[in-house]
Amino acid sequence: MKLLSVIVPCYNEEENVVDFYNEFIKNEPFLNKREMDFEIIYINDGSKDNTIAEIKKLHERDERVHMVSFSRNFGKEAGLYAGLEHAKGDYVVAMDVDLQDPPSLLPEMFSYIDKGYDSVATRRVTRKGEPPIRSFFARCFYKLMNVISKTEIVDGARDYRLMTRQMVDAILSMKEYNRFTKGIYGWVGFETYWLEYENIERVKGETKWSFWKLLLYSIEGIMAFSTVPLSIAAVVGLLFCVIAFAAMIFIVVRAMIWGDPVAGWPSTACIITLVAGVQLFCIGIIGQYLAKTYMEVKDRPIYIVKEKF
Ligand code: UDP
Ligand code: MG
Repeated sequence: MKLLSVIVPCYNEEENVVDFYNEFIKNEPFLNKREMDFEIIYINDGSKDNTIAEIKKLHERDERVHMVSFSRNFGKEAGLYAGLEHAKGDYVVAMDVDLQDPPSLLPEMFSYIDKGYDSVATRRVTRKGEPPIRSFFARCFYKLMNVISKTEIVDGARDYRLMTRQMVDAILSMKEYNRFTKGIYGWVGFETYWLEYENIERVKGETKWSFWKLLLYSIEGIMAFSTVPLSIAAVVGLLFCVIAFAAMIFIVVRAMIWGDPVAGWPSTACIITLVAGVQLFCIGIIGQYLAKTYMEVKDRPIYIVKEKF
């Protein structure tokens, strides 16, 4: 008997916990046919509502339901990592509890695993129901990311993914603190089949992502998988040297031919502020990397468990 582990991160999702279970359980005949058991691991990411109580109720009904509850909100990335660590399955799948990752895709996903793929990932081809500005920035982010990072990050990729034990172990071997799972999936490699589907809107509750949270997350992603921003300082520095050199020759030649009237302090002031700005910007980028390095060096745990069953 093989085992499928289902990882479900939850943050203030009391109204979705049971709905998810009911939806997932529709796969039971399919799993039985494959002679496969399953375990659902809800990760309670420091919810302030009745999420824990809902999960406990489910556990009493069905002992295949498990919970790992964090001591506070550690973020979805930490939740996914905790789920992978606690999963005992030969196959592991991560799904959102809001049913935006339809559990009904599971049979199709397994059909590709049977064809020899190590993982089946999902990608939404539309961004229907999302604010246009958010879609615009998301698209820009993926374009930029794929220019400056060697790791492939697919536009519209979701965290909804079915993986073999081998791939899960590979992901678990990446113990970095600043986790950007979309990049980690790409980094570990393996054969991945991309399943495409139309965006589905959240059934109940609200998205936990504000525009700013997403922006910070995208910066995190860029920094975790690319060091190109660090090179910006070098490139801009070089560029400014070339400009300065050309300007120097121009000024010397002009002074020799037409004399040197004392003027031009406004332009000097402008140049000084511009250069100072660029320097601070570059130091800022370096500082960001330094801060990330500092956090990594501290080697803090990715999450802290308060309760589990
Ligand atoms: N989530 C989490 N911790 C957080 C934020 C979100 O575990 O700090 C979970 C949330 O409960 C949901 C999933 O991550 O199951 C995706 O969150 P959401 O639906 O808010 O994001 P969106 O689908 O809008 O990208
Ligand atoms: Mg969602």
